[in-house]
Amino acid sequence: MQEATLYSAENLVIIKKAYRKMVKSVKAELDKTDKKNIKLAFEVASKAHSKQYRKSGEPYILHPIAVAQICAEEIGLGATAIVSALLHDVVEDTEVTLGEIEEKFGTSVCKIVDGLTKLDNLYATISPQAENFKKVLSSLATDVRIVLIKMADRLHNMRTISSMPPHKQLKIAGETSHVYSPLAHRLGLYNIKSEFQDLCMKIMDPDTFFDIAQKLQETKDSRNNYIEEFINPLTSRLDLVGFPYRITGRPKSIYSIANKIQNKGVEFEEIYDLFAIRIILDVPVKKEKQVCWQVYSIVTDVHKPIPERLKDWITTPKANGYESLHTTVIGPLGRFVEVQVRTERMDEIAERGFAAHWKYKTNTPQPNVFDDWLNSVRELIESPDSDAIEFLDDFSANLFSEGVHVFTPQGDMMVLPNDATGLDFAFSIHSDVGYHCKSIKVNNKLEPLNYKLQNGDQIQIITDRNQKPNKAWLKMVVTGKARSKIRSSMKEEKKKAGEVGKEALMRKLRSKKVSFEENVDMLVKHFEQNSRVELYYEISVGNINLKEIGKFKVEGNKLVKPPKEVIPQVTRRVSKKDPTHDPHAARLKIEGEVASQYEYSLAKCCSPVQGDDVFGYLTATTGLKIHRTNCPNATRLAARYGYRIMKAQWESTSNTDFIAELVITGIDDGPGVIERLTHNISSDQGLNIRSFSIDGLEGKFEGRMKLFVTDKDQLNLAIAALKKLSGVINVTRIK
Ligand code: MN
Repeated sequence: MQEATLYSAENLVIIKKAYRKMVKSVKAELDKTDKKNIKLAFEVASKAHSKQYRKSGEPYILHPIAVAQICAEEIGLGATAIVSALLHDVVEDTEVTLGEIEEKFGTSVCKIVDGLTKLDNLYATISPQAENFKKVLSSLATDVRIVLIKMADRLHNMRTISSMPPHKQLKIAGETSHVYSPLAHRLGLYNIKSEFQDLCMKIMDPDTFFDIAQKLQETKDSRNNYIEEFINPLTSRLDLVGFPYRITGRPKSIYSIANKIQNKGVEFEEIYDLFAIRIILDVPVKKEKQVCWQVYSIVTDVHKPIPERLKDWITTPKANGYESLHTTVIGPLGRFVEVQVRTERMDEIAERGFAAHWKYKTNTPQPNVFDDWLNSVRELIESPDSDAIEFLDDFSANLFSEGVHVFTPQGDMMVLPNDATGLDFAFSIHSDVGYHCKSIKVNNKLEPLNYKLQNGDQIQIITDRNQKPNKAWLKMVVTGKARSKIRSSMKEEKKKAGEVGKEALMRKLRSKKVSFEENVDMLVKHFEQNSRVELYYEISVGNINLKEIGKFKVEGNKLVKPPKEVIPQVTRRVSKKDPTHDPHAARLKIEGEVASQYEYSLAKCCSPVQGDDVFGYLTATTGLKIHRTNCPNATRLAARYGYRIMKAQWESTSNTDFIAELVITGIDDGPGVIERLTHNISSDQGLNIRSFSIDGLEGKFEGRMKLFVTDKDQLNLAIAALKKLSGVINVTRIK
C-alpha cells in the first residue's frame, strides 16, 4: 500500500490502530459496500492529509478518525455519516475537490462534505460568529447529519483544546457554550451537552472546575458506599418484575454542581444530590409504561417519595423526545436522592438524541414534535431581514425550552416553548394574526397579551385590523418567530417614518451639488448608524441635524469630512488619566506587549484583580476592556465577536490596587454586624473599603462591599477571613 511512504512507521501504527478502533465502534449494521466506502474514505483522507499535523504534533488524519469515532460511538450514526466525517476537512484543507468526492462516494456524501466545508470557511472570515451560526442552522435544514458531524468535530476539538493558545481557547469555548451546547441539548444529545459544559467551564472558570473535580474525587468512596446502601433493599424486589435491568449511580456533571453551589449559595459539602440513580429496564415497547410505573412503586415503597418532585416524561415526552420517569425520594440518613426510571429504548434516545429516534421512529409517541421544531427553525432562517445577531439571541432563547401544550378553539394541540405568552401563540397561528392581535381569551376569559400560557389552556385570539406591533411587544414574547416578525414589522414602520428624513437628506446633498448614492453610505458611518434606514429615521425624528453636513468640504462628487473629525482609533494610544489605573505601572501584557500602549480599562461587570485569568475585549466605542474569563458577559462576547478578543496577562509584580466586590450573607443578630465586618477588613487585614451597603430581611442580612486589593491572593484571604466571622453564612465574589 502506498501509505507506507507517506507516514513514518511509528505514526502508521498509531493511525491504523485508531482506524481499526473506530470501525469496531460502529453500531449500525454495515453491508459490504458500506465497509468498502469507509475504507476508501480513510485511504483518501490519510493520503490527502499526509503532510499536515495538528497543533499537538500528531498526524492530522487522527482528527477525522476521532470525529468519525464520535459519530459512530456516541451519536450512533451510520456509514454515510462516517464516510463524511472521515472526509470532512479534505476539501477545506487539501487538494481533493468536491467533484472527486461525488465521483467516488456519491451525492449525499458530497452534499454533507460541502455543507461542512461551507461552515468551516466562515471561520476564515472575520464575520461575527452569529452569521456562522445561522449557516449551521441552514445546514440543519439541508441534512441534519451535517450538524451532527459538526457537533462531533467541535467535541473533538474541545477535548484536545489544551494545545491551543489561551485566547483562542476562550473564543472557542465561548462559542461552544453559547451555541453548540444549547444546540446539543435541543437535539437531545445530553451526554455531549454535559461534556461541552464541563469542557467550557474548565477553560472559563478553571478554579471552580478543579476545586469541584477534586472534591468529587475525594468523596468518591463514601458516595459509592451510599449508593450501594440505597440500591441493596431494591434489588430482590426488582428481580421479581421479571425483566432484565441495570442500575447506575453516576455523579452529575461538574457544571451542574457548580451551578447549584452558585444559585443556592451552598457549599459543596451541603449538596446531597451529587448523583442520580438510574434504573434502566429491557422491556418490549408495549409494556414500557406499565413496567416503569411498577418500578416506581417499588422504589417508593422502600424509600419515601417527595410527591412534588415526580416528573412524568413518559406520558408527555419533552419537546426534544426525552422520555423518563423522575422522582426524588428520601434515602438512608435522610438524604434526598433523585431516581430516574426508563427503558433501554428511552435511554438510547436520551443518550444519543434523535439520531436514535430514527431507529425507533414508528414507536415514538409524538414523532412530530421534533419536526415541528425543525420547521420553526426553517421559518426563522428564511425570515428575510433577521439580522444575524438578533437571530442568534432569538434562537438561543428558544433552545433550552421544553414546551407548554395548549389548544386552539378547534381543539388542535400546539406546543410552544416554556414561558410563551398569548402573543407568541397568536404569531404561531399566523403572522397576520400576530400583527393584528388585539386581545386574548384564555378558557373564555379575557387576559392581557403577555399572559403566560399554562398546560391545557384553550386560547382564542381576537384581531383588529388597526392594531400593529410596537416596541413593547418585544418584551411580551419569547419565541424567535414572534420576535423576528415584530422586529421586521417595526423596521417596516421605521422605513415609512424615515421617508421624510430621506427627502431632507436628498435636498441637502442636492444643494451641496454632490451625488446622493456616492455619499449616503459614508454619512451612515459618520453618524454611527447601522443602516440607511436608521439614518433616515434619525434625521426625520430630529436626532441627527443636517446642519452638520454644512461643515463638510466638497471634492468633485464627494463630501469630505472636516479635518478635525478623526474617527477614534482604539489601538495604541497612551491612556488618559484613569484613577483606577496608572499607565506607567504596566501591569498587563496585551497580545504579548506592554499594555501601556493600549487604552484599556477594567470591566465593571466582573472587576478583575491581579492574578485573575483575564482577556481583553476590544469594544466598538470605549476602547479595550479587561474581563475575567469566567465573566458571564465574556461568554456572550466570545461567542459573538471572537475576533475582537485579545490575549491579556498580568505582569508579575505591581502594587496597584484593584476594586473587588463581595456579597456577604449572614444572620442579622443586631447592630454589631456592620462594625464586625468593617473592623475585620480595615483593622485586622489592613484593607481599604471603598463602599459598603447592607440590607436586612427576616433576620438575615445581605451586604455588598467594594474593597481595594492588590491581587487575587489578598482577595481570597479576605474572603476566607470574613467567612470565619460569627453570623456570616457565605461570602462570594460577584460574577
Ligand atoms: Mn475538523
